[in-house]
Amino acid sequence: MVTIHEQRDRLVDDLLDRGYVHDPRVAEALRFVPREAFLEARDRSLAYEDRPVWIGWSQTMSAPHMVAIMCEYLDLQPGQRVLEIGTGSGYHAAVTARLVEPGGTVVTTEIIEPLASRAEACLRRAGINNVEVLHTDGSRGVEGGPFDRIYLTCSAPRIPPPLLEELKTDGILLAPIGEMPSRLVRARRDAEGTGWAEEDLGACAFVPLRGAFGVA
Ligand code: SAH
Repeated sequence: MVTIHEQRDRLVDDLLDRGYVHDPRVAEALRFVPREAFLEARDRSLAYEDRPVWIGWSQTMSAPHMVAIMCEYLDLQPGQRVLEIGTGSGYHAAVTARLVEPGGTVVTTEIIEPLASRAEACLRRAGINNVEVLHTDGSRGVEGGPFDRIYLTCSAPRIPPPLLEELKTDGILLAPIGEMPSRLVRARRDAEGTGWAEEDLGACAFVPLRGAFGVA
């Protein structure tokens, strides 16, 4: 009988072998957060397969390799303040929260109320206390900025301007942009400090961003 801890370790070993994870801190965070705790009981057998899982309301929990890739691109460090748009299950926020410990916090926003409440309950049950879940349209930004890091777990037609305004001058924003397949785009201040430099990091697949700066 393979225990759930062994399944989790095997998945992380596999992500390391396949080159999705390079940073030992990201590997540690993936080994620390119980992905099964963010799924309904009937779906828990899927927790350690490297693929997205449906979580209701036509939304998905991202695949572990995508969570890992995004954590690495964001260069998450202890003490940072992070804004996530698209809480979904709460799993990705939980991994981010681990990476900004000690001293860091995650504010995560979810536009679908039942998902926001469910994620909040899952985070509490998993003992993750440095995540604040807000039921709101995150594309408009939130109170409490500026943030060191901002990321979207849903695909936007373009980077929502209010989010760039909430990013610290040395901050990083990561977002899937455009139609299926989307491009994963990383934005930082340009060398002059007046505009934004965007890097295309490759293709990815995400559910669409809704709300004021969303698809519809
Ligand atoms: N990070 C999540 C992935 C969730 S999928 C996880 O690990 O489970 C993306 C989520 O973004 C969906 O739950 C969707 O409802 C939410 N979303 C879409 N548009 C949004 C918006 N404008 N503000 C906040 N959340 C939004």
